[in-house]
Amino acid sequence: MAHHPVIVVGAGASGLAAAIAAAQYQAPVIVLEKGPKPARKIMVSGAGRCNLTNQQPMQAFIDHYFGQGRFLYPAFNVFFRDQLLDLLMREGVATITEPNGKIFPASGRAADVADALVRLARKSGADIRLNQTVLAIDPADDRVDVRLPDGVLSGAAVIMACGGQSWPATGSSGDGYRMAAGLGLAVVPVRPALTGLHLAVDQPDELQGVSCPDIKLELLQENRRLGQSRGECVLTHFGISGPAVLRVSRDCPPDLRQQSGVSLELDWLPGRTAVSLEETIRQACASHGRRQLRTLLSDCLPLPQALIRWLAVLSELPENLLAADTSRIQIDTVVRIMKSLRLPVSRTRGFQDAMATAGGVSLREIDPRTMACRRQPRLFFAGEVLDIDGDTGGYNLQAAFSTGWLAGREAARLIRSRPV
Ligand SMILES: Cc1cc2nc3c(=O)[nH]c(=O)nc-3n(C[C@H](O)[C@H](O)[C@H](O)COP(=O)(O)OP(=O)(O)OC[C@H]3O[C@@H](n4cnc5c(N)ncnc54)[C@H](O)[C@@H]3O)c2cc1C
Repeated sequence: MAHHPVIVVGAGASGLAAAIAAAQYQAPVIVLEKGPKPARKIMVSGAGRCNLTNQQPMQAFIDHYFGQGRFLYPAFNVFFRDQLLDLLMREGVATITEPNGKIFPASGRAADVADALVRLARKSGADIRLNQTVLAIDPADDRVDVRLPDGVLSGAAVIMACGGQSWPATGSSGDGYRMAAGLGLAVVPVRPALTGLHLAVDQPDELQGVSCPDIKLELLQENRRLGQSRGECVLTHFGISGPAVLRVSRDCPPDLRQQSGVSLELDWLPGRTAVSLEETIRQACASHGRRQLRTLLSDCLPLPQALIRWLAVLSELPENLLAADTSRIQIDTVVRIMKSLRLPVSRTRGFQDAMATAGGVSLREIDPRTMACRRQPRLFFAGEVLDIDGDTGGYNLQAAFSTGWLAGREAARLIRSRPV
């Protein structure tokens, strides 16, 4: 029989899942949370609605982790969407699937998910202790010591579920990386992910909030492609955001500055070839010579008017240029701006605004079948502290729940097979 508990560091999505699993697998569990409340990031997730997972089948799901998804197979095979939804349903949280595949609590309240997980963790026997900042961890052969400001607590196993570095107001301020690095574990340099990009270009006020449902974009440094994406974008007061932009933000160099030579190349009409676009504009000009080119473009191209006005300015088209007076070179310029506009990127919105953190504890350090540290078998890692980040759509929370659950189960099993 074990005397030392499983200690979970952090009461976020992964920590609560770990605590529930470990407790349900008969381990005594203590959760140490540095904040005054558990689950603070769940509360803000999905703009307060909590997009907790996605309807995609497992193979397609795995493709949403930017090349790192294979690591998640063992965790998903143990605890995936159905197990998560079932667990929530048993706690009274019904869910709905939106037509785009995103899954939310039916109430539209993230608090319902957070409350259910905290309730279930406590009901299962976990002792959640708030305002407890873990300062360091010292693994030994037979236990792991957890250093707190007022003493040391020993665990038979410790699960590091202390999150990433984004939205630090929710408690995740990078402590897990520092503690892992302090143990000599490899930590892949972290950078903000799922965040908007500042553009070093003047954008008229009327562009704020203008969105395009389907653009294609490439993130470039000089002419080297750092990333690419396709989907919706939104023009904002600082530059550009929306799912397609959020997706490539993780590919920005960590030292990105105005002079880094980083730019976005945007194709505003990826469904049209340059040749067909040119033909459309040429024919419109030929048929409606007395009309102003800018209004004509608005009529014949499926883009918001404010955007067309801005693209016309960037194409240096005179304001009152008549269609009949438009030269071939001017049409070529418009087509180039529509298909491959390059805008310099000065910086990302940073960790304050990022919904996820790219980088983290190297996956090479972790056994994906157990989430245990290969070099420290009593130490487990789960959630965003790991070098794995997902797309928008419920992928980050599902990864946190799944890795947390597996870590909790395996920590409880370890205690049973190797009691202290
Ligand atoms: C605004 C926003 C919206 C989001 N929306 C979605 C969404 O809709 N869908 C989705 O899938 N993902 C979403 N995400 C991402 C998702 O919320 C996170 O990836 C996920 O919550 C990570 O879970 P975690 O348990 O690893 O970390 P966290 O939820 O960050 O939990 C870590 C916990 O550890 C605690 N902690 C940290 N250091 C210590 C320490 N030294 N001692 C003790 N405790 C400590 C923290 O206080 C925190 O409570 C969103 C993120 C943000 C910021």
